[in-house]
Amino acid sequence: MKPLKVLEGVFLVGGAGISHEADCCIYLVDIDGSLVLIDSGVGVDTERIVENVKKAGYNPEDLEYLIGTHKHIDHIGGNWFFRNSFGCKVVMHELDAGAVESGDQFTTGAQLYGVKLHPCEVDMKISRTTSLIVGQFSLSLIHTPGHTPGSISVLLEKEGKRVLFGQDIHGPIEPSWGSDVDQYCDSMKLLLSLNADILCEGHFGIYTSPEKVKAYIERYMKIYGCK
Ligand SMILES: [Zn+2]
Ligand SMILES: [Zn+2]
Repeated sequence: MKPLKVLEGVFLVGGAGISHEADCCIYLVDIDGSLVLIDSGVGVDTERIVENVKKAGYNPEDLEYLIGTHKHIDHIGGNWFFRNSFGCKVVMHELDAGAVESGDQFTTGAQLYGVKLHPCEVDMKISRTTSLIVGQFSLSLIHTPGHTPGSISVLLEKEGKRVLFGQDIHGPIEPSWGSDVDQYCDSMKLLLSLNADILCEGHFGIYTSPEKVKAYIERYMKIYGCK
C-alpha cells in the first residue's frame, strides 16, 4: 500500500496494512532535505518500507537519522537493515539501547514475535530529554518511560503545528517486561502538557486535532488508573 501523507514532509511509510503486518507505524520526516525515520518495524519486508520512502518522493540514501523509540522488536527490528544499507545514525535512549545492541531476543519481544533480532549498534544514546539537531532545525527527543524504561517520544514543530510521535502511548503496561505504571502516568502528563496538534501513534494511526490528541492520551491514562 502507498505511504500516507500526514502533512508536508511527514509521511506514514510503514505499519500494518502498509508494510509487514507486524510492523509498528513507521514515520518519515523531511527536515530541510535531511530525512529522519521514526522506528523501523519488525525487520521483515523492510524493502516495502524503502519502496514507500521512494513513493513519497524521497531517496532513502538521504536518511540521516533513525530514531528507535523503544526496544520492542516491532519498532527496532529493521534498524540493522537501515543502518547497513543507508548509513543512517541510530538514536535511542541508553536504557533501551543495550537490548538492541546485544540482540536480546527476550526483552525486545523478538522471541514472542517469532523473528530473529539482528543486533545493531546505536550511534547516539541519549540519557535524558534532549534536542536532535538536523540541519538548521531540531527535533525534541522526550524521555517518556513507562511502557519501557527507555521509551522516547518525538516532538516536531512544522508549518505551525506541533506534531507528537508517541509510539506505544497505548501501552501495554506490563511490569514483567519492565513497564512501570507510575513512570507511565508521569510521562503521559508530560505529553498532555505539550498540547500537540497532531499525534502520530505507534499502532493506531494519526489523531489530527488537539482535542483528539488529548482524548486519546487521557483514555489510556484512565485505563491504567493514572490519577
Ligand atoms: Zn512497545
Ligand atoms: Zn509497538
